[in-house]
Amino acid sequence: MASDDGALRLPLYCPLVVNGEEGKAASGRQFARENPANVREIATLAEEGTQEDARAAIDAARKAFDGNVSNWIYNYKLREQVLSRTARLMRDNADRLARVVSLEVGMPMRQAVPHIGAAADIFEFYAGLAGKLYGESFTLPSGSMINLVKEPVGVVGMITPWNFPLTQTARKVAPALAAGCTVVIKPASYTPAATYELVKLIQQTGIPNGVLNLVPGPGSIVGAEIIASKKVDKISFTGETGTGKRIGAQAGMEVKRVSLELGGKAPYVIFDDADVDAASRAAIFGMFRNAGQACGATTRLLVQEGIHARLMARVVALTRKLEVGHPSKPSTDMGPLISASQEKVVQEFIEYGQAQGFRLLTGGKKLSGEGFDHGYYVEPTIFDGVDNASRLGQEEIFGPVVAVTPFRDEAEAVELANAVDFGLVAGVWSADYPRALRVARKIRAGTVWIWDNYAQPVEGIWGGYKQSGMGRELGYHGLNDFLEVKQIFTDGTGLAMKAPYGQVIKE
Ligand code: NAD
Repeated sequence: MASDDGALRLPLYCPLVVNGEEGKAASGRQFARENPANVREIATLAEEGTQEDARAAIDAARKAFDGNVSNWIYNYKLREQVLSRTARLMRDNADRLARVVSLEVGMPMRQAVPHIGAAADIFEFYAGLAGKLYGESFTLPSGSMINLVKEPVGVVGMITPWNFPLTQTARKVAPALAAGCTVVIKPASYTPAATYELVKLIQQTGIPNGVLNLVPGPGSIVGAEIIASKKVDKISFTGETGTGKRIGAQAGMEVKRVSLELGGKAPYVIFDDADVDAASRAAIFGMFRNAGQACGATTRLLVQEGIHARLMARVVALTRKLEVGHPSKPSTDMGPLISASQEKVVQEFIEYGQAQGFRLLTGGKKLSGEGFDHGYYVEPTIFDGVDNASRLGQEEIFGPVVAVTPFRDEAEAVELANAVDFGLVAGVWSADYPRALRVARKIRAGTVWIWDNYAQPVEGIWGGYKQSGMGRELGYHGLNDFLEVKQIFTDGTGLAMKAPYGQVIKE
């Protein structure tokens, strides 16, 4: 079964990593991840973790945290070193990491390479914050003092998705380690090797045993145990809104801290006065990057009537030039979908759009023939005249299928943009900046881009309004999600009988 994919020897492998040791699953079983660009090939074999394995990893993380292993909680210099060395190792191994991501996700190398850089940037950024967890201090008129100190939230269970495996994992792991937490990761089953490659690098940085643990396996077994365990203080989840709702409900029963990064249905609002070429390019980048398999993908183009014909002509012309092909080919713009089931979902949405009578401007077909027959390739697809209330306007497709809906005026644009359950990201394009800003303020989403699309600087934030999630990743906000604030009150009066005690004690 072993074969070569450029510099990679296949199949890749993902073991458990528990207490600094790589190991096999208690089940004695492994699961296989196929190559989505060529399903005849096994990309990865991963250990199929069990409840018992999850418990062992949680115990290791708990012990490391409660025992303050190597003074992990207070030694910010060690944490800084782990994070900055990780960033450096990622850059040194960028080519291999990009190939692994490209292989497992089907992401074109042209996108996988910058993906590694973005993940390394996240580790670098949080390395800089590890030693800056300043608290606050306040002296009362009595001389007593309030100290507010920041402490790590404890053991964090991380459940991650497959679509951008390294940045998604970095957004959780880097701030959690900067804060002094210990971690158990349950990676998505489509991308175990990509996650393991990162964990393997972090293990080389001097991180104490038990601080970072990895358990591949089914969400319903490994993920469920991490969520249920009383030894886990916080869950950090990224995935579908449906899964997130169940996880949030379960975590709520234990009053466990939880952050949820969930699905989206991003609108991109283009007004009549927009620069047609610049807006078209921005839209296409958001629509078809990673074959539209992105929570922040541009899934709804809301286009003002006066620019509609010109804009769509440009968007369609640029879309038809996109090269769909093998992810490892340097010229490929769009690769395959992640799986057979995702391809089925996408095709069902295309059939639905056609049955509804929406105008198919381009695409709509599964690609076949040489180079396509053994992968999940679907054309970039655009439907025009879509009713925003239809399934194409409302549901997350997670593929290269875009719904275009014309609008008359600013009020209608805002109404359409907000008329979904999601609120992750949005875009606005208008030459009239006060109008663009007004609309950006009115759209209920965690990020609104003006004159751009898809920028996710680590210094900013990422997270959703409404059913797109709870909490924020990246930036200072992303660090705060892994910290508790404790008040330490110190008496400054020195009195044995303080005034309030008189409420209980008479003399
Ligand atoms: P998913 O919900 O199917 O799986 C996410 C993770 O949860 C996986 O590791 C999976 O094994 C695990 N899981 C599944 N069922 C579980 C259960 N019952 N208990 C515990 N764990 C369980 O999502 P996916 O298909 O991997 O990712 C795609 C989704 O993620 C899309 O909806 C996308 O919008 C969303 N996403 C959101 C963001 C964001 O930042 N908001 C980023 C990337 C992806």
